[in-house]
Amino acid sequence: MNNNYYNFKAALLSLLTLFSFTALANQVQGVRVWPSPDNTRVVFDMAGEPQHKSFSLDKPDRLVIDLTNVKGGTSLPAVNGESSLIKAIRSSGSGNTMRIVLDLTKASKANVFALPPTPPYGHRLVVDLPDDQPQRNLPPPAIRAARDIVIAIDAGHGGEDPGSIGPSGIYEKHITLPIARQLAQLIDRQPGMKAMMVRTNDYYIHVNRRTEIARGQQADLLVSIHADAFTSPQPRGASVWVLSLRRATTEVGRMLEQTERHSDLLGGVAEIIKDSANERYLAQTVLDLSMNHSMVTAYQVANEVLSELGRVTHLHKKEPQAASLGVLKAPDIPSILVEVGFISNPQEEKQLKSPSHQTQLARSLFAALKRHFEKSPPADSLFAQQRAREHRVSAGESLSLLAQRYNVSVDELRSINQLTSDSIRVGQTLRIP
Ligand SMILES: [Zn+2]
Repeated sequence: MNNNYYNFKAALLSLLTLFSFTALANQVQGVRVWPSPDNTRVVFDMAGEPQHKSFSLDKPDRLVIDLTNVKGGTSLPAVNGESSLIKAIRSSGSGNTMRIVLDLTKASKANVFALPPTPPYGHRLVVDLPDDQPQRNLPPPAIRAARDIVIAIDAGHGGEDPGSIGPSGIYEKHITLPIARQLAQLIDRQPGMKAMMVRTNDYYIHVNRRTEIARGQQADLLVSIHADAFTSPQPRGASVWVLSLRRATTEVGRMLEQTERHSDLLGGVAEIIKDSANERYLAQTVLDLSMNHSMVTAYQVANEVLSELGRVTHLHKKEPQAASLGVLKAPDIPSILVEVGFISNPQEEKQLKSPSHQTQLARSLFAALKRHFEKSPPADSLFAQQRAREHRVSAGESLSLLAQRYNVSVDELRSINQLTSDSIRVGQTLRIP
């Protein structure tokens, strides 16, 4: 029994000795790189079980692996294989430690783990490098974050400013607010759009402050709601106003005089305009560009609004009108001013105070805005992203091929495109669910 015990102890000791010797004698015997479209696996063939730690660094992107109990000598064997994700594999070390650095072409969340021997392989240290954006010919199906289109809604007048007063004593400010509120509700219910009320209740805000509020919210569009009035009761109907070019040009000049407002107006662009000698010129150029964009956008929206309003009310003017009225003085934010009708006309005054007519007006404004932004969505918006999920059929493509490519079912493709058969033609635009 004693003997057995000593034999056992001796055997254990020699095993431990062997084990620690093996651990100390660990060595990288081979490096194999296995690329696949969305992952690269690097395998370090080890003489013994690896003792390792790893961490990632960026700028430039690197994966660092520290091996301990490695026999002196820090050079790696030749690397077998290559990957577009890995620029280089290098090593350094001192004493019993070895540091391996993988220089990456882009960030990757590495998974580093040891594998026990399995014939024909021995101990291995495995590094899996997923490639989140593999370069393929397929459009990426990944959904990225996309922003809402922000509509600033300005209910005209408010507080001690009643606006125009109708023959029966109705105040313009009491008509503009409920229409604005309903429009905001419709917008907020629409995925990809967000409303922002310039005034939320019956109080006064200066006209200049209204555009500042819209600018502060980085609004894509400012819609100001008003009701018209005239000295005689006959004029009637809705009209839509945009900023006049002459007024816009004057405003740009005036704003450029106020140097401290440059950064406000130019956003991030101001950051790169450091040279004060060039500043005026650059600011003018950038503002001209954004003014041009704003005015084109406003004009397009105004046309959409007129075509929708024309379905629910008489139009006073069938074309957008240019002027510098109320909030129409921000050259950097597309702005329209909608006169929903004449409060000075007794019939229209009656209509304008009716909740059902107000709802119709709000709905037609919403339909127009939505249609405009579906046609011309800002590049980083959800609307733009949804628009991008379209596919133009090219030669040789079939419904089943596209279903596979976009990872959807043929049935889904068929139903969203209302197809009665599986035949598609070259040049046809398909919606992708
Ligand atoms: Zn007004």
